[in-house]
Amino acid sequence: MSVEIKANLLNLDREGLEQFFLNRGDKAFRSAQVMKWIYGQGVIDFADMTNLSKSLRAGLQDSATIGLPEVVADQLSDDGSRKWLLRFDDGNCIETVFIPEAERGTLCVSSQVGCMLNCSFCSTAQQGFNRNLTTGEIIAQVWVAAHALGSRADSNRVISNVVMMGMGEPLLNYDNVVRAMRIMQDDYGFGLSRRRITLSTAGIIPAIRQLREDCDVSLAVSLHAPNDALRDELVPLNRKYPIAELLAACKDYVGEGRRRVTFEYVMLAGVNDSDDHARELIRCLEDVPAKVNLIPFNPFPNTCYKRSLPSRVDRFFDLLNRAGVVTITRKTRGDDIDAACGQLAGRFHDRTRRRSRRMEEHQGIQT
Ligand code: SAH
Repeated sequence: MSVEIKANLLNLDREGLEQFFLNRGDKAFRSAQVMKWIYGQGVIDFADMTNLSKSLRAGLQDSATIGLPEVVADQLSDDGSRKWLLRFDDGNCIETVFIPEAERGTLCVSSQVGCMLNCSFCSTAQQGFNRNLTTGEIIAQVWVAAHALGSRADSNRVISNVVMMGMGEPLLNYDNVVRAMRIMQDDYGFGLSRRRITLSTAGIIPAIRQLREDCDVSLAVSLHAPNDALRDELVPLNRKYPIAELLAACKDYVGEGRRRVTFEYVMLAGVNDSDDHARELIRCLEDVPAKVNLIPFNPFPNTCYKRSLPSRVDRFFDLLNRAGVVTITRKTRGDDIDAACGQLAGRFHDRTRRRSRRMEEHQGIQT
């Protein structure tokens, strides 16, 4: 018996779908028609796609699927943030967060099940890594959130921005992330402009350079330290891609225009938050078109770090600001439902065994 694997149409961007229809001996424009149903109307049953012929609808039912994850949990924070725990067919679970603000609604999307990078202050890192998400699993997060938000009474809660800042390192899942961002931007997809999509990376330099060619969305870089010695400790990837080279790639990314790179800087008490660190950071960013995002550290179980005091964050902010560095302090959102930056954990089998190694280390310290 031959088991035919159906194509999940969420894995295909407009071009991919055109090819899919051409391969079936059909017309390329079916791609736009089907995308309008899926992303514009939220329709995932081929039978309901009424501008397609009956035979095409039947043919799609036989050869294709629109595979969505199961919503395992849907939590609402006191501040209006909302977090979904989504389970894919293989049992892996990831998290997606919606953050409403007065002027916009931002969806924070995951790119991997876990993360390989092992940044010392991040909860996802402690969970280890399982696998990359497919294009379909990435875009499905936007679909599920849009669908859930759309069914709420207050219709102003729409997704106006997407940040690739959930679980995982998006540039280590390059092809699937780029394809998903193309669907986000497509007029027949979610119609988001390039600048309303932000990709956050710990700094995979060759991929930053490639991204500029393929899909130059807004770029955020997790800097967190103004010198290599400290950054090596906080973001181990720095040993491979050190700060000077990273900043050069960032400069090239934005080019001569008016765009800026956002530099994320998590405020860790007594680690990277002194006046000297601020001055060093100012020098570091001297000739980079930069915006700095100070993020108060969000604690999680078994972490050795503490959040900087608000007065320290304010002082750090002032030093940067007075030196002319555009700086904002990110408001902590959704921490009552563990949805804040760095708190996303999901549920999955850790292939790297990092989680159990950490537990052993932790127990070792206690005994
Ligand atoms: N791997 C990518 C995408 C993750 S984005 C990256 O490193 O940019 C998640 C953002 O939250 C990053 O800036 C990350 O450094 C930050 N972050 C991680 N753990 C955090 C924590 N415990 N508190 C506050 N911010 C954290």
